Amino acid sequence: MISTNNEMIIPYWKEPDSHRITTFLSAGGYERARKALTKMKPEEVLDEVKEANLRGRGGAGFPAGLKWSFIPGNTGKPTYLIVNADEGEPGTFKDKYIMLHSPHLLIEGILIACYAIRAHVAYIYIRGEYEHCRRRLQKAIEEAYSMGFLGKNIMGTGFYLDIYIHRGAGAYIAGEETGLLEALEGKRAYPRIKPPFPATVGAFGCPTAINNVETLAYIPFVIEMGGEQFAEIGLGRSGGLKLYCISGHVEKPGVYEAPFTTTIRELIENYGGGVWKNRQLKGVIPGGLSAPVLTPDEIDIPAEFDALMKAGSMLGSAGIIVLDEQTCMVHVLKVLTDFYADESCGQCTPCREGTHWIYKIVEDLMGDDARIELLDTLENVALSITGKTVCAFGDAASLPIPALLKKYREEFVYHIEHHRCDVLEKYGEISNPLFETP
Ligand code: SF4
Repeated sequence: MISTNNEMIIPYWKEPDSHRITTFLSAGGYERARKALTKMKPEEVLDEVKEANLRGRGGAGFPAGLKWSFIPGNTGKPTYLIVNADEGEPGTFKDKYIMLHSPHLLIEGILIACYAIRAHVAYIYIRGEYEHCRRRLQKAIEEAYSMGFLGKNIMGTGFYLDIYIHRGAGAYIAGEETGLLEALEGKRAYPRIKPPFPATVGAFGCPTAINNVETLAYIPFVIEMGGEQFAEIGLGRSGGLKLYCISGHVEKPGVYEAPFTTTIRELIENYGGGVWKNRQLKGVIPGGLSAPVLTPDEIDIPAEFDALMKAGSMLGSAGIIVLDEQTCMVHVLKVLTDFYADESCGQCTPCREGTHWIYKIVEDLMGDDARIELLDTLENVALSITGKTVCAFGDAASLPIPALLKKYREEFVYHIEHHRCDVLEKYGEISNPLFETP
């Protein structure tokens, strides 16, 4: 398979029976793993991944090579690789497509990663709802064993690797990497206090690398083209290409692969087919539900980690949720706060209590007793959570709120003063803010 500057992963999906090993092998599959295992030392693989500027695609954007470099050697304990396939962020559905349509690309990435960090066991922690993906992956793993790409003495190199799939049970917080470790160990998915970080004390108390599905699916391309070239086709500190999930009020929702130089507007218009039904754009949530909203005049920026951070939002898991002019932002806030109140694991007080208070205040905003002071209260409660919790869920639940209140304040004020929705009055109906994903 020849990589291009515009697509790497998606061409695999276009092949007939793309999930089968025969298809994958005819497109050059497992050759990058062969190159790594037979021609490179583990530390050389690590160096290439570092040079590639491959940043974690699960949300945080932490460089994968740097993460691997924290794994200590010679501890006398096994090292594990955990694949975070617990894709649960609303508006995010790219990992599902990788597992369904190119499971062997993921397995090849896992194999190379395990070789680099000297791990011989990998666990794929998969979202419970993704049962169809689990079946595909399981079959692909069996195919890889049968062809000598997993198991003992892989490709005659003496390297050995076993992969196990672990199915989640439906908790959003198990996508947080230490919550995931707890769940994997058979416990409730309470995120751990860090440090220690998983690189030194991870699964079963052993050194552990945790990587997102998409991150690992790009590893074969790093080996194929070399870290330097992979970095060059990216933008700034973000190497390679990116899978974007475009959903919400667009003509063609779906998963698209594009360079990091692509702007949010280009993604919506050139890839997503534009705002549906010829309507105007009202706002964009650019990185999954927890990313602060952008207004239409803020989206001519690259859909890249640092560019979005600079714009006061984040790329997160690249779930780009498009909101048309008939969207009621008060309803959006209600959906958002309802989700976080429901999914807080309850371990720490600011998040457990705060998310429920926030939801209650939003309900009051929409009720007959709404008062303008509630807007300040809402923002104060949100800011009381930010930065004060065990895990990043608290930030995710609170950070979108100030942006929504500030950028669409008139709408909130109208709801409070008139006890009705101005969008509904203007258009006769509002667009559903429950973001269905393809
Ligand atoms: Fe749990 Fe929320 Fe605390 Fe994270 S921030 S540990 S989700 S209560």
